[in-house]
Amino acid sequence: MPMTDLTGKRFVVVGLGKSGLAASSLLLNRGASVLALDENPNASAPFDSDRFALSRGVFPSRFWEGAEAVVVSPGVPLSKPELVAARDAGAQLYGEIELAWRTRPAAAGPMLGVTGTNGKSTTTALLGELMTRQEPNTFVGGNLGTALTRAYEHPSRAPYAMHVVELSSFQLEGLVEASFLGSAILNLTPDHLDRYPSQDAYGLAKARIFATQPPSGFAVVNADDHHVVKLARAAKVPVYGFTTDALRTNAGFAGQAVGGGSKFIFTFGDKPVFHLRNRALRGKHNLENAMAAALLAHLAGATAETIQAGLDGFPGLPHRMEFVRELDGVEWLNDSKATNVDSSLVALNALPGRVWLIAGGKGKGAPYEPLVGAAKGKVLGVLTIGKDAPAITAAFKGFAVHGCETIDVAVKRARELAKPGDIVLLSPACASYDQFNHFEHRGDAFKSLVRSL
Ligand code: ADP
Repeated sequence: MPMTDLTGKRFVVVGLGKSGLAASSLLLNRGASVLALDENPNASAPFDSDRFALSRGVFPSRFWEGAEAVVVSPGVPLSKPELVAARDAGAQLYGEIELAWRTRPAAAGPMLGVTGTNGKSTTTALLGELMTRQEPNTFVGGNLGTALTRAYEHPSRAPYAMHVVELSSFQLEGLVEASFLGSAILNLTPDHLDRYPSQDAYGLAKARIFATQPPSGFAVVNADDHHVVKLARAAKVPVYGFTTDALRTNAGFAGQAVGGGSKFIFTFGDKPVFHLRNRALRGKHNLENAMAAALLAHLAGATAETIQAGLDGFPGLPHRMEFVRELDGVEWLNDSKATNVDSSLVALNALPGRVWLIAGGKGKGAPYEPLVGAAKGKVLGVLTIGKDAPAITAAFKGFAVHGCETIDVAVKRARELAKPGDIVLLSPACASYDQFNHFEHRGDAFKSLVRSL
């Protein structure tokens, strides 16, 4: 049974980031007392309550004693010695998503969870769009946007009928009983290997999403990604695959979505066909994201008409190949979220050609050559900004490279160079910290410059 009244119970919250704050807020509103631990010696106490205490810097000894549970933020590894000691001493450790699950109202509807290395936010937002059209009382959040505990932060909040939740692998590690009616793993590429001892360990963290699904549940996986297909063997529910390879057999899957170009089909049921004519869903990567979202939505009860309407109406996410405007026949796109070479590669591959590429910033040391390969025949010229401009210039031998240094100069120059039918794409392949606070800041600066042209 969910625990709704927590009066008199004591919790420890480790890490006061977005999810730690949300967890603390829910706990305090439900009558619990909270000891928050944050390594940052300058963390400020965000709650004015005599049931809230903050301990900064090193963890107090035996901090877990008397606590119902230790709620660990995704940014804090469970392998941290203090947390290992707490667990060894019998304390219950879990994450913010698990807390949300345990404290949800009894009548709360099911959860659909989306994870993977890339595309989580896009797929979650798109699935949110599809499900909200089917069931207006749908919560959309998690790792993206609003933390899940915020859904029921106020005990009087009427239960949501559906929850669409983005999950990072760090959040998945903190699950114990939380159960997803539908789950999806989009892909798995080497990432976060600083925190995981191996690719397998990282994959196992992702596979936890399957561990607690109910018998009526379903799983969706990328049939073209053998790491993901391997993980899906852990699922105890019917598994659906999505693929962009029309020759892939259906073996082992309860059903498939098969996509190519700008459409995809379900190979089961009424075999509906869906069309991707939305500018916000261009490229093979978005075809994959769309297939994953459509499968989950369909299995959760959305009609084919609703799914198609949602695919058409999805506004896209800011800073991911975001359409800014069309001016004199030139399309301007903001892909500031592309903070590494791989992401810019995805953007270039998604576009037909005639691209003026604005790139540069604080490089991450990866070679730019893969980008140069994708740019051949597609990129008309490169406009460099930021610190890594010399490395980009060196890599793009044979291309017209315009050294601009700053984004305002790059926008001005691109306006002079681009002809009707061309695309100007900010996809920096670099972090933004040399000139901006973060990638959103960079993208917003670009958008406001473009809008004022
Ligand atoms: P995440 O939330 O997992 O970081 P996003 O949806 O925010 O993912 O997308 C981030 C970037 O990842 C995009 O700008 C794009 O470059 C790339 N991307 C998105 N979807 C996919 C996918 N299905 N496969 C590979 N790369 C993708």
